[in-house]
Amino acid sequence: MNYALVTGGSRGIGRAVCVKLSKMGYPILINFSSNSTAADETRSMIEEAGGKAELLPFDVASRESVDAAISKWREGHPEDHISVLVNNAGIRRDTLLAFMSDEDWHTVLNTHLNGFFNMAKSVVKDMISQRNGRIVNIASLSGISGQKGQVNYSAAKAGLIGATKALAQELASRKITVNAVAPGFVATDMTKDLDEATLKKMIPVGRFAQPEEIAAVVGFLASDDASYITGEVISVNGGLYM
Ligand code: NAP
Repeated sequence: MNYALVTGGSRGIGRAVCVKLSKMGYPILINFSSNSTAADETRSMIEEAGGKAELLPFDVASRESVDAAISKWREGHPEDHISVLVNNAGIRRDTLLAFMSDEDWHTVLNTHLNGFFNMAKSVVKDMISQRNGRIVNIASLSGISGQKGQVNYSAAKAGLIGATKALAQELASRKITVNAVAPGFVATDMTKDLDEATLKKMIPVGRFAQPEEIAAVVGFLASDDASYITGEVISVNGGLYM
């Protein structure tokens, strides 16, 4: 069977992506960091709709944890493959660079960029041997335009976009596509501390996105209909270009 692995699938955009890919027929591997209650809720949502899901907790920033979890999963699933990888796990540690600690810088880079590297390394060889795969990276408007107070996050997301374009070229001939989705503001736990009433005045569509609106594009990129799209960054930002 071909599985879809979604990092940060317990909450927010990742949860919506899990539900979307499940509706498309994929059994889902729900990765998360620590919130097992939220991950259980995502699994229940999938199972109640008739889908199949397994929890796979690990820290995407840790190569050892990633390798241990994926190896163990493969031992239990010798006939199965991970054919869709959605690199979605993420955090913010916003502050002006002048006040940014080394930890704020490294934690954000490690989660988004090393996380991508660790995950891609763990699945790509099998995708190559299967001549089949979809990798979708959740970037951000901040990685395209840069955002003050987010030098770490903007650098990580811009790096992710560069990695998307490079890896797409490496894997295209093996029928594996690599794309990014760049959301603007999305209503999730990550943005709940922001002043939505003020910020939405800047957004041409006039509101934050719902996670399902990001998941719809991820689903399309994971589908057969998107087999000729690779190395692309699709913005889903309500017309906001800061
Ligand atoms: P969220 O609601 O805060 O959820 C974050 C998810 O990432 C959770 O499932 C969390 O797991 C997981 N996670 C965090 N660090 C992890 C780690 N080291 N290893 C494994 N899992 C980890 O965030 P969101 O808003 O849905 O954001 C999802 C992605 O979209 C992120 O990459 C974010 O940068 C990007 N994005 C978000 C927005 C937005 O406006 N919300 C805009 C642009 C881009 P636990 O539940 O265990 O903590």
